[in-house]
Amino acid sequence: MPETRAEIVTIPCLADNYAFLLHDPETGATAVVDVPEVAPIEAALKDRGWALSDVLITHHHFDHIEGVEPLRAATGAKVWGAAADAHRLPQLDHALAEGDPVQIGGLTGAVIDVPGHTVGHIAFHFPDASAVFTADSLMALGCGRLFEGTAAQMWESLQKLAALPPETLVCSGHEYTAANAKFALSIEPGHEALISRMARIDAARATNIPTVPSTLAEELATNPFLRANLDAVKIAVGLPGASDVESFAEVRARKDRF
Ligand code: FE
Ligand code: ZN
Repeated sequence: MPETRAEIVTIPCLADNYAFLLHDPETGATAVVDVPEVAPIEAALKDRGWALSDVLITHHHFDHIEGVEPLRAATGAKVWGAAADAHRLPQLDHALAEGDPVQIGGLTGAVIDVPGHTVGHIAFHFPDASAVFTADSLMALGCGRLFEGTAAQMWESLQKLAALPPETLVCSGHEYTAANAKFALSIEPGHEALISRMARIDAARATNIPTVPSTLAEELATNPFLRANLDAVKIAVGLPGASDVESFAEVRARKDRF
């Protein structure tokens, strides 16, 4: 595993959102990923004596962008987001598409297009930080609801994220993990790795500790949305022999009804 030189701070916002700081100690550059509200982000910056240089936006939903304009006004930070959603995002200094580089001081990230929850949803992968910021695409034991995209789009998005190094930290947008774990167990009730993960989640939540970020390795081992390609999951959802997308669509539909 490469030495990680970046620092990541998880910031609880609103009822169950997360924003993240990504800090480069060599240059002092600091980005925030999504701005559900301003006050907890300003407090986290002040605590550490960091100045905000950049704002990275994952998607247009209000609970992810509400604080962008006041934070830009207070800090002069440059705002990065999907070109495809420029019409419904705060004004962008950097309009991005799949594969575009994102430079935060000495840290180089790349944009991954992850449509499904919304059509313009993007993720930010920073190999230097061993982290991917996924918001409402891949989540801890979950994935975002399909508000705008199709199951096929979300499945393809998840495959791109699943191909990252397994030690990658998955910095997702909400504390939904305990509820997601109950659903996951309904799909794979006897799955040992899931049962032990659920115990760790319950212990963390009992003391209000975030369960985010998780690691990609944990998600690959336990997240039913990433595991929809497995025969065991296809059988569990009553679709033996189905395609991976059909199986994923059924898992997602079951979660919507759960
Ligand atoms: Fe959302
Ligand atoms: Zn969200």
